[in-house]
Amino acid sequence: MSILHISTTTIYMFRIPYANTLKLDVKNRKVLCLPVLNKGTDTMKLPHIIKFLENIAPPELADESDIGRIGLILDRKNEVNHIATSLDVTEHVLLEAAQSGADLLVAHHTPIYEPVNRLSKTLADTLKIALDNEISIYVMHTNYDRAQGGINDVLAGLLGLHHTRTIDMGRIGDNDPTNTEGLARLTAQRLDTHVQYAGDHMVESVMVLGGSGFRREYIEMAIDAGADALVSGELRHDVIPYSKDISLIDATHYATENPAMRTLAGRLPVESVFIDSKPQVRVIVQQNSSGSHDLPDLPDS
Ligand SMILES: [Zn+2]
Repeated sequence: MSILHISTTTIYMFRIPYANTLKLDVKNRKVLCLPVLNKGTDTMKLPHIIKFLENIAPPELADESDIGRIGLILDRKNEVNHIATSLDVTEHVLLEAAQSGADLLVAHHTPIYEPVNRLSKTLADTLKIALDNEISIYVMHTNYDRAQGGINDVLAGLLGLHHTRTIDMGRIGDNDPTNTEGLARLTAQRLDTHVQYAGDHMVESVMVLGGSGFRREYIEMAIDAGADALVSGELRHDVIPYSKDISLIDATHYATENPAMRTLAGRLPVESVFIDSKPQVRVIVQQNSSGSHDLPDLPDS
C-alpha cells in the first residue's frame, strides 16, 4: 500500500473502472489503495443523478423543518462524472472536492440553514470555492436519517445490532448483552471516537439516533420502545436524569453520522470519493478527581 498526504482531510476514492483507488491521508503523507466499492458510467446528467439520490433518500421522508433546505442548493454543471460526499460543506471539504475533480458535492448538513439576507465571510469564502470550481451542492439531511440504508441503518450496522426496526428516524435493535461500559467501549472502538456516557444498566436492546438525539421526546421514545441504551451525540445536561431508566451514550454528532456519508460514496452511479473532515476537538480527562474544588480566596469586603 502506498500513501500520499496532501492536507488535513482524508479522501477515500472509489474509482471505476480501476482495480484500486487512492486514499489520501495528510497525517502520514501516504496514499492507501482501497478496493472498488461502486460501479458507474463515465458521465451522467445532473437531473439523473438527482433522481438516483432521491431514490436513496426520498425528500418526502424529511422533517418539515428541512423543507426548502435539502436537495440541490447550488446548481452548476449539468454533466457529472465525479462526485464527492461529506458530512459538512466547509472550505476544507470543497478544496478537497475541487482537487479530486468533483462536479458535485453531496453533503448531510447544509451550509445555508437559515434564510440568507447577507453572506458572512465564512459562507461567502466557502461558496466561492464551489463557484470557482463549478461544483454543485446537494443536501440530504433528515430524509437520509430516515432512509433505508441511511445514517441510522449504517450506525446500527456498525454497532452490530440485529432484529433492527425503525422508530421515528432512529433504529432499535438487539445487541450482544453487555453492561453500559461494555457498550460504550464497543461504540468508541467501532466509531473510532471518544465517548461519554451516563447510566449503568445491562443492555440487550439499543436505540441509535445519529446526530443530536438527546432530546426528551427521543429518550422517552427509546424508553417506551424498551431500549436499555440510546446511542447518539451531544449529550445535554438537562436530560442526564433519564439515565436512571436508560443508559445514554454520547458518541459525538460527527462520529454517529459520518460513516453513512462514507457508505454513500460507494453507492453512487459515477466515480465518487468520500471526504472526511473530522472536527478538530481535543479531550482532556482529569484522572483521580476528588470531586472537590479549591476555591480562590474571596477578597475582604
Ligand atoms: Zn447532523
